[in-house]
Amino acid sequence: MYLNINGGIIIDMSTLKNRKVLWGAVRMFAAVAVMSLFMVVRAQAAIICLDPGHGGAGTSGAGALYPPYMEKQLNYAVASQVKSELEAAGHTVYMTRNGDVSLGLDQRAAYAKSVNADLLISIHFNSSGAHDKFGSEVWTSMFGGHRTTGYALGNSVLSQLTGLGFASKGVKTKLGNSGDYYGIIRHGVSFGIPTIIIEHCFMDNPIDRAIMESKGLPALAHADAVGIGNYISSVGGVVPKSDPVVFAEGTTAAGGAGAAAASDPFKTKYGFPKDASGNVTYTDGSGGTAVFTAAEWNKLLGLWNYTGDPEAFLKQQSAADLKTLASR
Ligand SMILES: [Zn+2]
Repeated sequence: MYLNINGGIIIDMSTLKNRKVLWGAVRMFAAVAVMSLFMVVRAQAAIICLDPGHGGAGTSGAGALYPPYMEKQLNYAVASQVKSELEAAGHTVYMTRNGDVSLGLDQRAAYAKSVNADLLISIHFNSSGAHDKFGSEVWTSMFGGHRTTGYALGNSVLSQLTGLGFASKGVKTKLGNSGDYYGIIRHGVSFGIPTIIIEHCFMDNPIDRAIMESKGLPALAHADAVGIGNYISSVGGVVPKSDPVVFAEGTTAAGGAGAAAASDPFKTKYGFPKDASGNVTYTDGSGGTAVFTAAEWNKLLGLWNYTGDPEAFLKQQSAADLKTLASR
């Protein structure tokens, strides 16, 4: 009897001597296979820094409060499980805070940098004044590669959260005085780390709370871990590197008519105008991406203002639909 092992080694199994040779070859082949597996796992592993939002003694760092829920506690419970699941999948995971401690947004981002994180993922739960908003949303940077990575990662997570029954409010960006509006994102990308905020749901809303309570926090954490893991697999374990993004204080929020001036450094670079409050919010409910000219943005801003509730309008629109609307 002859066996063909791995591309052409022909071994005669009819003699004891050749059986020994065969088993030697099998052992070597198995060792190589195990090494290959190890290398594949390593190649697809990433360094992830999870940031359980808020924290600090009592209610001072609670985040959203809606008895019996305190946001900092939900964030920490979810982040802890996401860490365990991602580690079990072979990734290296750090948390910005261990326990109920107060930590600045700049400190959290600096910690992510110190551990050489590929991604910084801030874990949050939402609430609204009138308790009438619902759905999952992800915030990401408005800038370059950070935006591209944030959209892909955010959509991967949202696809899991919507699988639990939450409505998707999409992946969003928002501009503030000196770059991205949200501090953890602004500080994260200043270190060149793609950063997102996951707002799992509105814990004060009956629709979302019913889903959260019936599925349980472990299911939400599992959704995060699967979404994050799927994204990392989709890029072969290599999260694209993006340059640090830093704006000087006040350079992205001229405000009012001045916002659209050609001298505005942000508009000159990216072509987006700003609204009267100095913020530009771009939302793509479908997960697609689109870059709008200043004229297009002005049209869309007019539409958003007309509805009186930008989110109500935007969460129904795809990037393609917004592009169509902007071209009319
Ligand atoms: Zn929060």
